[in-house]
Amino acid sequence: MSKTLAVNAGSSSMKWQMYEMPEEKVLAKGLIERIGLKDSIITVKFGDQKEERVFDIPDHTEAVHVLLDDLKRLSIVEEFTEITGVGHRVVAGGELFKKSTVVTPEVLQQVKDLSALAPLHNPANAAGIEAFLNLLPDATSVVVFDTAFHTTMPEKAFRYPLPKKYYTEHAVRKYGAHGTSHEYVAHEAAKLLGKPIEETKIITAHIGNGASITAINGGKSVDTSMGFTPLAGVMMGTRTGEMDPSVFPYLIENDSELKNAQDVVDMMNKKSGLFGVSGISSDMRDIIGAKDENPDAQLAFEMYVDRIQKYIGQYLAVLNGADALVFTAGIGENSVPVRAAILEGLTWFGIEVAPDKNDWGAVGEISKASSRVKIYVIPTDEELVIARDVESLKTK
Ligand code: ADP
Repeated sequence: MSKTLAVNAGSSSMKWQMYEMPEEKVLAKGLIERIGLKDSIITVKFGDQKEERVFDIPDHTEAVHVLLDDLKRLSIVEEFTEITGVGHRVVAGGELFKKSTVVTPEVLQQVKDLSALAPLHNPANAAGIEAFLNLLPDATSVVVFDTAFHTTMPEKAFRYPLPKKYYTEHAVRKYGAHGTSHEYVAHEAAKLLGKPIEETKIITAHIGNGASITAINGGKSVDTSMGFTPLAGVMMGTRTGEMDPSVFPYLIENDSELKNAQDVVDMMNKKSGLFGVSGISSDMRDIIGAKDENPDAQLAFEMYVDRIQKYIGQYLAVLNGADALVFTAGIGENSVPVRAAILEGLTWFGIEVAPDKNDWGAVGEISKASSRVKIYVIPTDEELVIARDVESLKTK
């Protein structure tokens, strides 16, 4: 029996899913939250059972120990040798990694060296990789990069209009993010369109807590809204998205709390977006619940929708038309009012939603038969992409 673990390690969390491969059957999944804090929360779901425990987990190495012990204790595996592959999501692969790669000591060092591009994520990803290498030395370890899918962007899209030396000396360019998600839903959309992906033009809107929009031509990313880091693009739960950089020095000079560039970037990453504008929450459900009585929540909703509409408009121009527009991730998959508000402003392009199909629980097509661009809701599955990449690279 061949089992593969897909691991998504965040700065203080570790999400995992265990598959029977190549059948792609989910055997178990879990989440370890609050790593490094008091009262870490350990959740495991398998079959129709769910177990939740609370105790302190000081670091990612211990989190991996706990995860593996749980797999045995709950009889999800009998022997660790059954786990033949482990796939790790890595946020930043820079220009180096154009596809998923088997982990070697050199690759691990390169992941660490790319930490400047994702200071919160890459060190946590590397810690997770090292812990699994030590505990499951015989399994094939694979790194799957959030940025790899976007390495097909043409230079005119990924370069910033800065002097060239900032690109050549400091690698300042657009890298994008959520690549596995955009790639997965684009392939699913091509199936729904009934066309080979090479013959499609698709715009994918991954809108969750983090959000990015991608223009995909013939299955290849040609532009995406996130940039050098995941702060760019559309407005998000706590992130600004696109900003005029002149605001940064202006705020440092004029605001007593913001003392340096890092303070401003932190504020724009963690206290802005839906949360900053509404003053109440980064969660779209709270914004929708409050907006009829709270003008700040109403404004946050309108700004959020406005930024997404503008990116879709841009990408219709980049692609010179589209066969499909796809909604995915927490908000894209679940929020009927957000989808309705975005689509209401796009009818001129021949994007016509069927109001009776844009309903709670909708999956698949939500456009009218007459719509020039098909509109799809497609649940993303980043873990499955990871497991598939591990399977294709397995050496033993
Ligand atoms: P992450 O980027 O953290 O992976 P998710 O894709 O899980 O985020 O999306 C999380 C967001 O999805 C939440 O912050 C919430 O705003 C939103 N969400 C989930 N369900 C709904 C819903 N029914 N209506 C509106 N928003 C929702």
